[in-house]
Amino acid sequence: MNATPLPEPACERCGTCCRKGGPALHAEDAHLFSGEDALELSAVVTFRRGEPMFDQVLGRAVPLQEELLKLRGVYGAWTCAHYDARSRACGLYDRRPAECRALSCQDTAPLAAMYAKNRLRRADLLPKGHAIHAVIAEHEALVPVERIAPLAELLRAGGQEGLDAQDELSRMALADKAFRKSLAERAGIAPEYHEFFLGRAAAALFAAAGLSLRDDARLGCRVQPDPLWRPEAASPNANLKSASEPLP
Ligand code: SF4
Repeated sequence: MNATPLPEPACERCGTCCRKGGPALHAEDAHLFSGEDALELSAVVTFRRGEPMFDQVLGRAVPLQEELLKLRGVYGAWTCAHYDARSRACGLYDRRPAECRALSCQDTAPLAAMYAKNRLRRADLLPKGHAIHAVIAEHEALVPVERIAPLAELLRAGGQEGLDAQDELSRMALADKAFRKSLAERAGIAPEYHEFFLGRAAAALFAAAGLSLRDDARLGCRVQPDPLWRPEAASPNANLKSASEPLP
């Protein structure tokens, strides 16, 4: 006798996964950015290759191997901007992203199987041959994310190498600031789009590496170790969706 298959576990719409973070986007989500109800690029935050993220599957922070686009959060957190807390509903439900479709609280295997595959990149959402590609490439070269963590270590260790690291970090912070200013003033790209085109600002990247960034009247900016920062403070998030989560 054939056993009757058990019904799929139903989503109880508790909203936990949406409050813990919007999804990372995949190639099959590109449709969200075309057509009548297209999302603006300002709805997306770019996490650049080399940024440390908490990997839910591995259970530890690792540098991103490839850039990752994530739907923006609200309320100063990562609660998905498309989640309506009052009705506990998704504003994109009929066309919600692939990770949202894959996630089930009762069985995270389907999400774990797909979360690192076919991720959408900035270049996939920009016109081929547009001058903005060169701007992004120049920014990547002048503000290389993968340099931040090792330079932060040198700065914390002190000595001449620490001072040199502080100089390099300061140059990176100033270059990042200049790029964002230029995007707004010369290219007319409003600040709400900058986290898509250039990723998170230097202050956020430095904070994830335990550094604070302050304006300085003489030097332009000052980069210092944050005395309260502890690497282990980046606590795991039980949510698997957006299997890579930003560090605080
Ligand atoms: S897109 Fe919808 S289902 Fe996905 S995290 Fe946002 S609110 Fe939740």
